[in-house]
Amino acid sequence: MLGHGPTLSDLDSRDSRSQSVTMPDIHHERGPSSASRWLNCGGSLTYPQTEEAGPEALEGTRLHHVASEYLERVYHGNLSSFVVDEQTEKDLVILQPYYDFVERTINDLNDPEKYFELYCPPTDIPLFGGTVDVLLIDGDLAWVIDLKTGFKFVSAEDNEQLLCYTLLAKKRFPQLKQFRQSIVQPKVNYSATHSCTLEELDELEQRIRSNSKADFTPGAHCEYCPGLGDCPVADRNLVQIMSYAKS
Ligand code: SF4
Repeated sequence: MLGHGPTLSDLDSRDSRSQSVTMPDIHHERGPSSASRWLNCGGSLTYPQTEEAGPEALEGTRLHHVASEYLERVYHGNLSSFVVDEQTEKDLVILQPYYDFVERTINDLNDPEKYFELYCPPTDIPLFGGTVDVLLIDGDLAWVIDLKTGFKFVSAEDNEQLLCYTLLAKKRFPQLKQFRQSIVQPKVNYSATHSCTLEELDELEQRIRSNSKADFTPGAHCEYCPGLGDCPVADRNLVQIMSYAKS
């Protein structure tokens, strides 16, 4: 449990001030969540980068909302616009391992700056922007924490999505020189942490800058591409084989 600030029992519906939480619906063409696709196939950007809206995606969005509102309340005393209903109570219990991880990480650092659902708009890299679940800053160290709400294990090592979040943090806070990234999957009680260097972020930035919409490169990343079925180069059989191979 969190050692300071409100606990679950403090999140009584009597505290609800007004309306439900609504998150900004900001989508960037080169967003971290689809980085593994567009970094490996710039041609995929010629198709609308629509997000899947199935039940799992909707649940993931809801859990992210609840998580950020709870952390805002605990660490920043932000009491506004958080309605605790029956569903929210269940979500808060699911998310407990995530809160515990965030708390441990904060306690391991030296009173870091804390940002939850931090929107990082595009800067000098066109169309590259996104929202970081948690960013902790301790001197020149940045620690990015990403919440995953699925059951499929996700590695933090060489994770292009996490690296993109880290690069966005670096763009927003240029003084940063050390970088750690964590993935937390509360439904399977799993977390993993990796680190990267400034040089690796520079390499990533060069990859993004050289990313061309004229290059079509098929691979496992085709699996969720919005262009699949219309794409001039993807071989459906190859995609299926590669999808099975990685599952
Ligand atoms: S289906 Fe594959 S090769 Fe075609 S645009 Fe999408 S990611 Fe690229």
